[in-house]
Formats: sequence, structure tokens, C-alpha cells
Amino acid sequence: MTDKARRFPLSLSALSQKPLQSSYGKSSPANAIATPQTATKNSAQNSQYRAGRVTPVAVVPKPVAGNFAAGARSAPLVPDSLRRAMVVRLVRQGITDQAVLSAMEAVPRHLFMEPGFSGQAYVDASIPIGYQQTISQPYIVARMLEIMCNGRTLDRVLEIGTGCGYQASVLSLVAKEVFSIERIKPLHELAKTNLRPLRIANIRLHYGDGMLGLPQAAPFDGIILAAAGLEVPRILLEQLALGGRLVAPIGARQQELQLIERISKSEWSRVALEPCHFVPLRPGTA
Ligand code: SAH
Repeated sequence: MTDKARRFPLSLSALSQKPLQSSYGKSSPANAIATPQTATKNSAQNSQYRAGRVTPVAVVPKPVAGNFAAGARSAPLVPDSLRRAMVVRLVRQGITDQAVLSAMEAVPRHLFMEPGFSGQAYVDASIPIGYQQTISQPYIVARMLEIMCNGRTLDRVLEIGTGCGYQASVLSLVAKEVFSIERIKPLHELAKTNLRPLRIANIRLHYGDGMLGLPQAAPFDGIILAAAGLEVPRILLEQLALGGRLVAPIGARQQELQLIERISKSEWSRVALEPCHFVPLRPGTA
């Protein structure tokens, strides 16, 4: 297939996508407000989980060269310095993985939100994307990726909860193949619209219930849940490769980030990491 004929992002089921309308008109940016932060609290609390670690100096890596600049051309004018400042803040909050920091610096987060929110794109906040969902705050995206990658480039990862597609594009820079599932059809379409101009060849989007995983693409070296359930569905644990790492927020009102590692065919280890706040994981599609 020629590059010209390819439609980005690629879907699982060949490339039969129709041209899409942006869902941005569906909520009013003027009325919406960025949701409160847990990041500052988290990064302070994290110190207990980071005992023995040396506080990182603010070394900000060079951004990964990629297609991201091309997509930014038609976007609202948001200075790159704001994204750079976000990365400096991530380092202060305890993120040390250079590949993750580079990816966070490379992806223009403002392109994944309504233009009315562009000015807040590099603040450490989760921001509404419509349908009562949010784009995750930069700190938690970086933290989850750092935990999942554990210093390596992963081959195949699965994200549950594509939302607007932001985290999927950060993932595309730290993993060779990214599969992402969204249960709300208009958000799945929004992610396609957002990702298309970026022409990222290693993301595949799937509309469906992520609680069922993606058996046709399993096993995965990493699985990341962007929505909180009371437990990780067993079927997702089964779709982890041996040695694979799953990161998920667990809980209802009180949530904590957990890392689950598959240590043998029938054994998984679990570590509780830090408090967090995510939208709920829901079954079925909408
Ligand atoms: N990854 C996004 C965050 C999206 S918010 C980012 O980059 O910021 C979490 C998303 O999870 C919502 O869009 C919600 O609809 C979705 N979600 C919740 N339960 C799901 C399920 N069972 N399967 C797939 N997506 C789900």
C-alpha cells in the first residue's frame, strides 16, 4: 500500500473509515472548566514510594523528531515553551524516564482539545473532552507510561480508553505498536479526527468494550487503563505476555494506581503505587 493511500490512524478492521466530523461542537468550552488536580498532591505523596531514589535534576531531553510538527500547523498558536515548561515540571514531579519525557515534549497536547481550552493545554490538569470524559493530566500520563515501560521500549501495548487520543500518541513514541480501545463511539471518532493529521503509523484504534481486551492482537507487553474499575478484568490479565506489565487505576471514590506483572502462565504480582483520580471504567459500548 502506498503511503498516500493509507488513512491514519489505522483501524483494526482494514481501512474502511468515512471522513469524520469533529465532535468539538458538542460541548461548550466557555462553560467548561478544567477539573481539579491531584498531581501536586500525588508528587508530594509519591516520595514515600520513591524511597532511596535520588531527586532528578531538571535535564529536559530533546524532543523526538516525528510527524507532530506537521499536525500543529493548522492549530491555535500555543508556544512550544509551554510544553517545555510542562516537561520541566514533570521532572520536578519525579518523572525520570528520558524516553517518556521526550515523548511528552514531542506531542502537542493542545491539538487534542477544543480550541477554547488550548491556553490550559500545558497546565497539569485533566480537561473535559465531552461525554463526561476528560483528557488525563500530563503528570499521570507520564507516570503510567514510566511505570509500564520500566526503562524499555515495549513491542506491543494496549490502551483501554482512547478518549481524545492524546495518551495513545504519547504511547506511539515509547512502544512499537499501540492498540487503543474506546467504548464511546463519538470519542472513538474524535480520536481518529485528532490523530489523522499526525499520520502516526503505529497506532490502531478500535471501537468496543475494553473490558474484553483485544484477543485478536494479544499478548501485550504492556496494558494501560485510562479509566478506573473496582478490579482489573481477568481477561486483561490473560492478555498480558509473560513478563508483561499492566498499569491501572483501581477503586471508586478512593482510587490507587496499581502495577500488575505477569510472572508466569498462572501467576501475577501486584503493587499499589499512589493515589489517583480517573473517570470510571464502564462495560459495554455507547
Ligand atoms: N486516554 C485518554 C483518557 C481518556 S478518559 C487521554 O489520552 O487523555 C478515559 C476513557 O476511557 C473515556 O473516554 C471512557 O469512555 C473510556 N472507557 C471507559 N470504560 C471503557 C471501556 N470498558 N472500554 C473502552 N473505553 C472505556
